[in-house]
Amino acid sequence: MDDFNPCLDCCICCTHFRISFYWAEADDAPGGFVPAEMTEKLNHNLRCMKGSNQVPRRCSALTGEVGRGVACSIYANRPTPCREFPVYFEDGTPNPKCDELRATIGLPPLPQSPLPRAA
Ligand code: SF4
Ligand code: SF4
Repeated sequence: MDDFNPCLDCCICCTHFRISFYWAEADDAPGGFVPAEMTEKLNHNLRCMKGSNQVPRRCSALTGEVGRGVACSIYANRPTPCREFPVYFEDGTPNPKCDELRATIGLPPLPQSPLPRAA
């Protein structure tokens, strides 16, 4: 069975939040990994993803059409806030904020527990 990934036709969260993080996550700092050219400085401690600190908001790393077919062009190197916004919590229950955002583009709430993933 294919992996169940509800994000692939959604990504509304990539157009909703300001994606800010500790500046040294960018790859122009030692050990950083987020492409620095896709970020902008917020203050001495923080950067954000370009496009996420303006209205309309859309992270510059997002490709495709929200609600249809989308992808993060830097998925393996996405910053911490993107890694910490779960579709499901560890107990298998959906994240209510995720469902709330999905509803704004007409997507249904997620089932109460994730579908099984391929081994
Ligand atoms: S709102 Fe939820 S389902 Fe949609 S992309 Fe974000 S985490 Fe995935
Ligand atoms: S870095 Fe990727 S996952 Fe994070 S907001 Fe941008 S497109 Fe979405």
